[in-house]
Amino acid sequence: MRVEAGGQPKRVTPSFESTLQYAGGVDRIRPLNRLEALLNVAAPDGQARWPAIVAVLREHGEQVDHLGPAQEKELLGALDRLRALLRIEDIDLAAEHINRIFDDVAARPRLSKHDGTPWHVHVDPEGAGWGTWLLASSALALAAAIQEHGRRTWGQCEAESCERYYVGDGRGGERHYCSARCASRARVARHRGRARNTAPAPPPGRGGVRT
Ligand SMILES: [Zn+2]
Repeated sequence: MRVEAGGQPKRVTPSFESTLQYAGGVDRIRPLNRLEALLNVAAPDGQARWPAIVAVLREHGEQVDHLGPAQEKELLGALDRLRALLRIEDIDLAAEHINRIFDDVAARPRLSKHDGTPWHVHVDPEGAGWGTWLLASSALALAAAIQEHGRRTWGQCEAESCERYYVGDGRGGERHYCSARCASRARVARHRGRARNTAPAPPPGRGGVRT
């Protein structure tokens, strides 16, 4: 969010992945990347991770100096809802969930031009709170990904004892892991599992054997 000359806060972040070049600089807008980072720093007991959430928002160009307890509650609530959405494996159910978010936040696309930026699309209603903004812009980015790829490009990492989320851009085929590290960990675990299953039974040990 940026504060305009008139004192009215205005969010700079549009809803699509894009690069905005304008007199004030260049903004790389990456709502999917932002969502992934937010979910991975915000545990369900989000309270303790609040400073990390604020840091992610700042990295993504938001003006966060005036966030208080009310905004914290809104954003943590929005993240809970988005986390639940990312866990839905069925594409049709995920699409329904996204549509419910659009309904609940009264999403309405509009072109906006502020702080010297070029025209760009927002879907959060004018003057919406932070929670609504995060829900609306994340839902639109996820909806665009479904439209483009016809499948989920996100999920929760399937590697053992990893609970991170990934929100991919759809490039490189279907994903199941948060990182190359987890993918290779899972590959090794599968390989070991197969080796165990095909190995001959180990000889009986001394335990239980009378001597
Ligand atoms: Zn992982």
